[in-house]
Amino acid sequence: MSGSGEFCPRCGETIEREDPVPREGLDSALCDACYLDEYDLVDAPERIQVRVCSQCGAVHRGNRWVDVGAEDYTDIAIEEVSETLSVHVDATDISWQVAPEQVDATTIRMHCQFSGVLRGTPLAEEVLVPVKLSYETCERCGRIAGGSYAGIVQVRAHEREPTPEECERAKELAHDLVAKLEAKGDRDAFVTEATDANGGVDIKLSTNRLGERVARRIVREFGGSYSDYETLVTEDRDGNEVYRVTYAVRLPAYRPGEVIDVDDDEGPVLVESNRGNLKGTRLTTGERYESSYEDGNTPDAERLGWAEDGEEAVLVSVTDEHAIQVLNPNTYETETVARPDFLDPDSETVRVLDTSEGLFVLPENT
Ligand SMILES: [Zn+2]
Ligand SMILES: [Zn+2]
Repeated sequence: MSGSGEFCPRCGETIEREDPVPREGLDSALCDACYLDEYDLVDAPERIQVRVCSQCGAVHRGNRWVDVGAEDYTDIAIEEVSETLSVHVDATDISWQVAPEQVDATTIRMHCQFSGVLRGTPLAEEVLVPVKLSYETCERCGRIAGGSYAGIVQVRAHEREPTPEECERAKELAHDLVAKLEAKGDRDAFVTEATDANGGVDIKLSTNRLGERVARRIVREFGGSYSDYETLVTEDRDGNEVYRVTYAVRLPAYRPGEVIDVDDDEGPVLVESNRGNLKGTRLTTGERYESSYEDGNTPDAERLGWAEDGEEAVLVSVTDEHAIQVLNPNTYETETVARPDFLDPDSETVRVLDTSEGLFVLPENT
């Protein structure tokens, strides 16, 4: 029944259609003119408010804060507007663009241009959506500002103080881990504070679990060990006990580059690694040294010096398989020194370390 007998329910016009539009709703009963009059190509909100954290730049979406990593808020505004615009379901050949106009620090006007085809009629529409940025403080930044923390990593060392480099690196490991978790969308992980404390560094962290992970990372990098203990801080509103956990990290006494006498009459050891147990090279023979499981990374030893303090000395002669003669760079006297297997007997000079136990040859590049 091509068209005859159909009337537009609004204007009463007879509807002549060659290709009847599918009758899916009341809308479809309208004639084209009334239909296009009634419906817009695009539906846009009158205005949009975007809540952003002035501290960290997070954006509030739905009911939570999200790290968006945006360079500036114009991109965020475009995204938020694009998500709220809805184009008529029956429209085809849609194309659109959004042009932001920054009015002031908190206002961006979005000029949104649309074109599309509805009931065979090409349409173009422009809507203006003002976006208001409201700067707030997100929950996390609020907690950081309030000094909230649940775990604390205390970095100390056996029989010495951690070096400034070790302290810096420990902080860096904590910040790196937090950045990684953040990148995965975890907003509960943060460093509340990292401060140089008596004899080391204290790193306050948002959760116990984070504290443990940071402690493990520090030990993995430097060796040493950690222990943990809980302290009851308070009760929360529901009467649950709230604990803070301290992770006490002890860095090993000796560090790579240090020369120590491990007290076994076999000569000094140049420490090369102290992860797990202490590993190094005997300066008398060039043999490998590894501390026993019981001694771990802190064998009984005496500190003799640092490889970086080694000096050039003239190699006077090679006595035999076990000894050479060098000119002591401090006294200019010829001395007999143990010959380690890393020594090149053809070289004219060797690097030596003058210690309280005498001269020792150092490997090259130490
Ligand atoms: Zn009509
Ligand atoms: Zn924030």
